[in-house]
Amino acid sequence: MTAIAYNLQAVHQTIAQAAQAAQRRSGDVALLAVSKTFPAAAVRAAYQAGQHAFGENYVQEALRKIDALRDLPLEWHFIGPIQSNKTRAIAENFSWVHGVERFHIAERLSAQRPAHLPPLNVCLQVNVSGEASKSGVAPEEAEELAHAVAGLPHLRLRGLMAVPAPGAGLAAQRKPFAQLRELMQQLNAHGLELDTLSMGMSYDLEAAVLEGATLVRIGTAIFGARDYGGKQ
Ligand SMILES: *Cc1c(COP(=O)(O)O)cnc(C)c1O
Repeated sequence: MTAIAYNLQAVHQTIAQAAQAAQRRSGDVALLAVSKTFPAAAVRAAYQAGQHAFGENYVQEALRKIDALRDLPLEWHFIGPIQSNKTRAIAENFSWVHGVERFHIAERLSAQRPAHLPPLNVCLQVNVSGEASKSGVAPEEAEELAHAVAGLPHLRLRGLMAVPAPGAGLAAQRKPFAQLRELMQQLNAHGLELDTLSMGMSYDLEAAVLEGATLVRIGTAIFGARDYGGKQ
């Protein structure tokens, strides 16, 4: 068994245990493997161990990998910050975009989504308490943005995403995730039909599943520590 296959198994086990503790079904928590900075060969090894969905943060790096792996039926998610000069490449090459925080960006993604592809799945990034990157729409502005994005023809608004600052301990980690869950419940009560809570990374995976994550974005725990080689 490769290290990546072993790590994937351990992550699935953590998800299953947290789901059970929350009386949820582990099948309701999708695993997105975050492959940024890792080579196409690592993605291929994860695919051979049963993983289909992969997340990338940097457009140029992602395009190289997507091209090198065209022989595999992979699902690509863009999870990085979105610059407006990169929306066309994102709209043409990905199935999902997490981290939409401005209407202007959503409008471009919709306009640039090729007609032969299904609508682009979108999550809005929300700046819940202690957001690590300070990015994301303010919680009180999320509803207006959600209604506007839901009206765009070539996007399908799926849910909310957050990247809270690393909390010390399980209770502190659960707080912003609970806030995101409550916000999604509120939006759904106001007529939106969101089904995705994109939250939880390697260090706060358990807290996210306990609070209702339906999609967790896991890099380090699958592929190991990242080496940015001075890039960041
Ligand atoms: C890098 C990244 C992840 C994965 O983080 P790990 O701590 O390596 O699991 C998840 N989400 C986003 C938005 C990221 O940028």
